[in-house]
Amino acid sequence: MALAFDEYGRPFIIIKEQEQKSRLRGLDAQKANINAGKAVARILRTSLGPKGMDKMLQSPDGDVTITNDGATILEQMDVDNQIAKLMVELSRSQDYEIGDGTTGVVVMAGALLEQAEKLLECGIHPIRIAEGYEMASRIAFEHLERISQKFDFNKTNVDPLVQTCMTTLSSKIVNRCKQTLAEIAVKAVLAVADLERKDVNLDLIKVEGKVGGKLEDTELIHGIVVDKDMSHPQMPKRIEDAKIAILTCPFEPPKPKTKHKVDIDTVEKFQTLRQQEQKYFDDMVQKCKDVGATLVICQWGFDDEANHLLMHRNLPAVRWVGGVELELIAIATGGRIVPRFQELTPEKLGRAGLVREKSFGTTKDRMLYIEQCANSRAVTIFIRGGNKMMIEETKRSLHDALCVARNLIRNNSIVYGGGSVEISCSIAVEAAADRYPGVEQYAIRSFAEALDAIPMALAENIGLQPIEALSVVKSQHIKEKNPFCGIDCNDIGTNNMQEQNVFETLIGKQQQILLATQVVKMILKIDDVISPSDY
Ligand code: ADP
Ligand code: MG
Repeated sequence: MALAFDEYGRPFIIIKEQEQKSRLRGLDAQKANINAGKAVARILRTSLGPKGMDKMLQSPDGDVTITNDGATILEQMDVDNQIAKLMVELSRSQDYEIGDGTTGVVVMAGALLEQAEKLLECGIHPIRIAEGYEMASRIAFEHLERISQKFDFNKTNVDPLVQTCMTTLSSKIVNRCKQTLAEIAVKAVLAVADLERKDVNLDLIKVEGKVGGKLEDTELIHGIVVDKDMSHPQMPKRIEDAKIAILTCPFEPPKPKTKHKVDIDTVEKFQTLRQQEQKYFDDMVQKCKDVGATLVICQWGFDDEANHLLMHRNLPAVRWVGGVELELIAIATGGRIVPRFQELTPEKLGRAGLVREKSFGTTKDRMLYIEQCANSRAVTIFIRGGNKMMIEETKRSLHDALCVARNLIRNNSIVYGGGSVEISCSIAVEAAADRYPGVEQYAIRSFAEALDAIPMALAENIGLQPIEALSVVKSQHIKEKNPFCGIDCNDIGTNNMQEQNVFETLIGKQQQILLATQVVKMILKIDDVISPSDY
C-alpha cells in the first residue's frame, strides 16, 4: 500500500493488493480494509492538538484551502477507496452531531484498526474483536460520565463557556486571538439561545467575512450584515428608525406566464404602453410609501427606470438580497416576507433602529448593517482577515467554537482535554478487561491501548517522545489518582489540565468513542470485497 499524490498535490491511496484482484476474501479483505482506514487516520494524526500541523489542499479549479479541521481536510481530499470513504463519513458525522473533535475521532478509529490488525494476526475472530470493542466502548462511555464535571454558568458568568471555546480554538490557525473569538462565539450563542429549553438555533447566527483589516477587528453585530449596498448611489446611507418592506416580488411590470405578443404599429400605441409601464412602477412605489416603508429590501433586481423612480420618490432600496439573508432580516426585524405588492400592510414591515451603509478599503466595497432590530435574536459575526483563506478558516474555526458553546448549553458537563480523559478511560478499560473471561478481554485490552493513541499523537505533534511522555503521565494518573493529567502541549509547566483550563464537552468525547467504535466494528465485519475489475 502506498500514499501517492496526484498532479494537484492531493494525497490518494494506492492499495497494491487490489491492483490485480477484483475480489478479496477473509483475512485479506480485512487487512486491506484496515490498511485503507489506517492510511486516512495517519494523514490526520499530525493535525491533532494545539500544535498540530495544517493542511493545504488545492481543488481541481485551483482554489487553495488551508485548514486544521479534520472534517474539512477529509471532505476536500479526493478519496477513492470505499473504506477510506467510511472514515470521511465518520468525520462528517462527528461534525454534524457535535461540530468539534473531527480529527480526534478519525485518529481514534485508526488506532482501533491498528490494534485490530494485531489481534487478527493472533488468530482472533473479527466478530470477537468487534464484540470486545463494543463492551470496551460502553465501559469508556460510562467512565466518561463518571469523571465529567458539571459546569454552572448563567448569562452573567460566562467564563466557563469562554474557556471551553478557547480550548477548541487553541488548535486552530486563529489561536492568536482565541480569547476575542471565543468571547464573540459565546456572546453570539447566548444571544440566540433559549436557556429555558436548552436549545440553540445556530441558523440565527450569520457568519460574514470580508478581506481586509486584522483578525482582531472581527466583531459581533447585534443585527444583520448584508454584503449589498443601496441600489442608487444618491440614496441615503443612514436610515434611523427604519420601517422595512421585505419583498420577494420584483419592481417590474407583470409578465404573463404564457407566451405573449404585443403589436405596436403606431406611435400612440407605444406611448400608451410606456405610460402603462410607468404607472406600474409608480403604483408599486406608491404602495410601499402608503404603508409607511422607509426602506425596501428586495429579493429581485429592478431596472434603471424603477431605480430612478425609487430614488426620486425618496424610497431607499436594496436589491438582489439572497433568500437566506431575507429570512434572517425578517426574523431580526420582526417583519414578514411579502410576495406581492397587494399584500403589503403596515404590520408586515420590519423595524430596525438603524440601517447604515459602511464602506471598506479603497474599492467600492460596501456593506449594509441592519442594527438595533426589534428582535435581538439574530446576530452576525463579521470576520476580518488578511486574505480569503484566512477568513474561510476563521469561519470554520468559529463554527467549531459555536458548536461547542451550543453543546454546553444543551448539556453542561465537561471533561478535561489534552489526552487526560483518554488516559483515564484507558486505565479504566484496562482494569475492567480482567473481569471478562472470554477472548473478548484481549479486544478490550487493545481498546485501552488504542485510547492511548490520542495523548501519544498530541505528544508527538509537539516534538516529544510519544511513549516516554505517555508513560510519565500515565504513571501520574495511577500514583496520584489524578484524572486531570494530560500532555502539556503549550509548555506551561504543569500537566494538570484542570489548572490549564483545557476543557472539552462530555457529549463530544462520548460521541467520538461511540462513532469510532461503530465504524471500526463495521469495517471488521466486512470479509468480502467485490469491486468491478478491469474497466
Ligand atoms: P479536533 O478536530 O479533534 O477537535 P483538534 O486539532 O482541535 O482536533 O485537537 C483537539 C485535541 O487537542 C483534544 O484532544 C484537546 O484536548 C487537545 N488540546 C486542545 N488544546 C489543548 C491545550 N492547550 N493543551 C493540551 N491539549 C489541548
Ligand atoms: Mg477541535
